[in-house]
Amino acid sequence: MIEFFFKELLGLRDCLNYSENNLEEDLTAGLIALQSHLETMLERVQKNSAILQKFQAFEIRLLKLNSLPGTIDHLLEEGKNYFDLDVISLCLIDETGEIAKTLNNYGYSRSSKNGLILVDGKGPLKSIAIEPYVGIYEHTRCADFFPQIEKQPTSVAIIPLSRHGKYLGTLNLGSYQLDRFADNMATDFIEHLSSVVSICLENNLHIEEIRQVSYIDALTGVNNRRFLEQRIDEELKRSQRNAEPLSCQFFDIDFFKSVNDKHGHQGGDLVLSLVAATIKHQLRDNDVFARYGGEEFVALLSNIDEAKALEIAERIRKAIQTLVIAINDISISVTVSIGVSTYMPDSASISIEGEIAARLIKSADFALYRAKHNGRNRVENGGVVFNKQGL
Ligand code: GH3
Ligand code: MG
Ligand code: MG
Repeated sequence: MIEFFFKELLGLRDCLNYSENNLEEDLTAGLIALQSHLETMLERVQKNSAILQKFQAFEIRLLKLNSLPGTIDHLLEEGKNYFDLDVISLCLIDETGEIAKTLNNYGYSRSSKNGLILVDGKGPLKSIAIEPYVGIYEHTRCADFFPQIEKQPTSVAIIPLSRHGKYLGTLNLGSYQLDRFADNMATDFIEHLSSVVSICLENNLHIEEIRQVSYIDALTGVNNRRFLEQRIDEELKRSQRNAEPLSCQFFDIDFFKSVNDKHGHQGGDLVLSLVAATIKHQLRDNDVFARYGGEEFVALLSNIDEAKALEIAERIRKAIQTLVIAINDISISVTVSIGVSTYMPDSASISIEGEIAARLIKSADFALYRAKHNGRNRVENGGVVFNKQGL
């Protein structure tokens, strides 16, 4: 650029035989123009370096996340801010329903409004993008990737995500500026973003697989106490946020020791599995249900008040009572005692979830103790737990 400029000036001097004064004036003007050009270039470099720094910060944060909901939220919520986007969505292929189940286990709210689209093969996504698409928003091509948004973007980048030949989904960026995503846009940025997001997603999908296994009780196949302990705080937070009750049911099989004594440990194991399956069958998919230990189980029922929780407990008690279990050609039946407690959030006081969780379980456990004391095969109410003790 500089060379070209000087050549031009020298050419002019030769052709027009400028006086020294004229030449000096021209050179000064040229220098000013050059300086202004350099300033513009410097500004552009600074802007690019700021974008790069922002992108690096986004990446570093993304690489540090070790849960699927955390990763999804970062992509959808932070991604919008980091890249200064109007719309962002994420399609994930979920043929086996494992992703939905994992998110459900976290109590993750998965309305398509927050931009997450799970494609289960039967889903509404007709066109699955294998190649990136960068350009203007074409309804037939792009609508599936940006469902249920108030205002459609005018330019988009639909970025396929894949790892080791496995197609994971797409990350979809949208802007209301027509020239934000143009088809002549540098593809290295898109490729880089695709690789980083794919690695993080694959990593977190693996972490979740391992985590899910560690939350399962090997004998009964239902969740274990560790899972319950992890979820109870989240359930309490949600209950507080939505001002909804949360009920807890504590189950204990009656005279279970005598089942072991009469039918051996294997017989006892079968009873445990069938009782667990029967209780789980009576609950909703999003209820938390876990083997607490030995022959004890706990359920957390979101948005279920005291009366309803007692009604459900009674229904479960009856279902167990009528269950016929065949052990080595001998049919047996068992009963359960159930203690119920309910958390009622109140806006008046600030609470610590851990402490409320302990009180909720303790109240249900105490009611269970009463159920045993009052003759077993019955439901007892431990009452309501409030934020402040003694209310
Ligand atoms: P109660 O009605 O008072 O609850 O009496 P119970 O016999 O059910 O209670 P107890 O606590 O005396 O006995 C619980 C038994 O559960 C003792 C233990 O050997 C048995 N148990 C705990 N875990 C397992 C298991 O995984 N498999 C089998 N088969 N038995 C188990
Ligand atoms: Mg017990
Ligand atoms: Mg027992």
